[in-house]
Amino acid sequence: MTDPNAETLAIHGGRAVIQQALQAPSWPPVTTAGEERLLEVYRSRKWSFHSPAERDFAASFADHHGAEHGVFMANGTVTLESALAACGITTGDEVIVPALTWPATAMAVHYRGATPVFVDVEPDTLCLCPQAFEQAITQRTRAVIPVHLYGSMADLDAILAIARRHDLRVIEDCAHMQGGRWNGRGVGSWGDVGSFSFQQSKTMASGEGGICISNDAELAARMFSFKHIGFAPDAQQGAPTATPPSDLVCHNYRGLGFCAAILHDQLEGLDALLARYQRGVSIISDELRGVDGVRIQSPGRRATTQGYYNLAFIFDRESVATVPREVIAEALRAEGFGMGAPYGPVYRHKLYNMPQDSYRIAGGACPVAEGVGTERTFTIPHPWLAADEQTLRTIGRVVAKVAKGAEQLLAQPTMATNER
Ligand SMILES: *Cc1c(COP(=O)(O)O)cnc(C)c1O
Repeated sequence: MTDPNAETLAIHGGRAVIQQALQAPSWPPVTTAGEERLLEVYRSRKWSFHSPAERDFAASFADHHGAEHGVFMANGTVTLESALAACGITTGDEVIVPALTWPATAMAVHYRGATPVFVDVEPDTLCLCPQAFEQAITQRTRAVIPVHLYGSMADLDAILAIARRHDLRVIEDCAHMQGGRWNGRGVGSWGDVGSFSFQQSKTMASGEGGICISNDAELAARMFSFKHIGFAPDAQQGAPTATPPSDLVCHNYRGLGFCAAILHDQLEGLDALLARYQRGVSIISDELRGVDGVRIQSPGRRATTQGYYNLAFIFDRESVATVPREVIAEALRAEGFGMGAPYGPVYRHKLYNMPQDSYRIAGGACPVAEGVGTERTFTIPHPWLAADEQTLRTIGRVVAKVAKGAEQLLAQPTMATNER
């Protein structure tokens, strides 16, 4: 358990790994090609209403992910709502969502008047646990929303097989997984619908924006009507050719051509960006080789191209398991590199204000999401993964040093423990 090579941690007066703050690579990207595309949209005066920029981007993005249809929207929350609406999810239905995700995944279910049922995650991927999912299915369950979280993918093979057996719709929440491929084909194209966000912090970012992709033409047409006040994709603005389906109360959830232009530019560099991120993860992992206190969130089991929203470090091995989260956080900060807190279970999130009788927690608790997924997990945002090699090695060394020095964190009271 004791690591003889452990150095004195900075929290205990040792020399900090980082003397001068590291500089995060800038985000989102700004390119000359992007500027030209934006100017073109501006001059075209076609800024919304299924603009050419929107059509081009939606088709290219869907194609890139192995889907036939793309429906571009205002953000990655209304995309989820539209997907649920297109699937006919309504009052009284139950929809299974993982306990660990951004609240939007569950809020979209509330917007439909349906009941989110929170299900635990797997300890290695932190994504929806297939067994727990199957156990949570009731007579009222109509759909499941697996989330490809941080730097992993939910087990699509297992989840799709269970969903098929129980006749459930599958909506993949791919807000963290632009460009990710499961067994060679894009995420989002495996379920009935794939929903993506392009909000400022995501791996493709246009400030705001979102898209649903699907290989089901009818679902795609329903999502299009839902987000475009009932218009069909081929309708001329102001001249509806048909009345929308009677079970759809439609909205204006349209996205802007400006956003589509920015995103089209980023789509062209997406594979190269993910390759660079993969290199970043390898360099950090290299520094963690042989360090037993910490592990990196496992990639998707059949990921052939892994996407990243965050890189998640999990301090749950025996040597560090009893060191309180706040002490690890303080030790990392003292070495010069503070890290973010993960989401935590949605039903504990400050922004989640839904009454307790409007949702369900399968089995009464989600111990993995609440434990490993919250108390033991630290994340860094994806732009860091494109940093230069020296920066990446330094980040890896900070994590390794704290994990190796766990003994010191247990042995002596620190400022952080005194505060508690
Ligand atoms: C960001 C995010 C969303 C919502 O996207 P917005 O564009 O911010 O509305 C949905 N699900 C997950 C997992 C997210 O991270």
